Amino acid sequence: MKKIIVTGGSGFIGSNLVNYLIQKGYYIINIDKLTYSSNKYHSKIKNKKNYKFFKLDIANQKKLIKIIKKFKPKAIFNLAAETHVDRSIDGPKNFIHSNIIGTFSILEALRFLQKKKINPKLIHISTDEVYGDIKKNYRSNEKHKYEPSSPYSATKAGADHLVKSYIRTYNLKAVISNCCNNYGPYQFPEKLIPKMITNIFKNKELPIYAKGKNSREWIHVKDHCEALFTLYLKGKNGESYNVGSGINMNNIDLVKNILKTCNFMKIKIGNKTKIKFVKDRPGHDFRYALDNTKIYKKLKWKSKINFKKGLQDTIIWYLENKDFLNRISKKNYEKRLGLKVWLKKVSS
Ligand code: NAD
Repeated sequence: MKKIIVTGGSGFIGSNLVNYLIQKGYYIINIDKLTYSSNKYHSKIKNKKNYKFFKLDIANQKKLIKIIKKFKPKAIFNLAAETHVDRSIDGPKNFIHSNIIGTFSILEALRFLQKKKINPKLIHISTDEVYGDIKKNYRSNEKHKYEPSSPYSATKAGADHLVKSYIRTYNLKAVISNCCNNYGPYQFPEKLIPKMITNIFKNKELPIYAKGKNSREWIHVKDHCEALFTLYLKGKNGESYNVGSGINMNNIDLVKNILKTCNFMKIKIGNKTKIKFVKDRPGHDFRYALDNTKIYKKLKWKSKINFKKGLQDTIIWYLENKDFLNRISKKNYEKRLGLKVWLKKVSS
């Protein structure tokens, strides 16, 4: 049975990817430090024969090398990261640790193992946010310059540069994916879509930054997993691939869409559930939009899940999995974060 390591396999995209790869018949080794955003999906499958879990920080290079040596995987999908922009504004240190030092640790482990003829392909998962603000009527392709705006996207950009340097300097087998915003099951409710869904369930206000005009591209997490699998099978070593859906939406339209869908699904919308504009995030990029031509033309991959259907399925998942939310400490996601810089600016 072919083995694959997934780092961050207990996070949102990671747990969906572990599930996807297990269904494809792979033996999965999940390495995750289990931070606040991780979920319990892995405990549901812990007794499966083709699944192994290690609670480990990817920055622990010694143990990482041991695991890679023992299992000799075909590939490593690196999803372990700190991921919430607002948290990176409050405190970038964890982001430097997991996103830069963590990626560096994986790269060094692979450089060391290369000499021992152990050469798994690295699929490094990055984001559209590394390109920074994208002008109206334009979409960034893979050659677009990196102009990250938040400490989060800066650490993702730094990690991408490191991966590219190891490919060029040490001939490491690796590809990078730059994906747009994901939605779907198991997403931690500090992110926009699950936050709105859970606030609707709880009859709470729906906070939107500024006037809600910021535009994001949305892809269902299952489509992203399929794209990552395609990169593992067919992605050319040394290349970056944008992974998007082409579906852009302003935040306000997205939230109206969620409300409309809940209405359609006969979910009760309480009297306190109203859109509320709140102070913007400092350094907030206005628009991200990916040009997905390369992955379509070179690898024949494009996203398939219709947004309306994907959103309905996601709402159903949150309705049917209330235990997922009940297990999460409220203080971990209900407090407004990312305002410290803003408050300082106002008072100085
Ligand atoms: P997430 O926050 O839900 O999960 C991240 C996981 O990584 C958690 O389980 C956490 O415990 C683990 N982790 C963090 N630091 C670690 C460390 N040092 N060692 C081991 N494990 C560690 O994040 P996500 O949304 O699933 O994102 C996964 C990856 O995809 C990230 O690299 C992110 O930048 C990228 N990405 C996410 C999106 C999105 O919309 N969610 C879009 C594009 C790219």
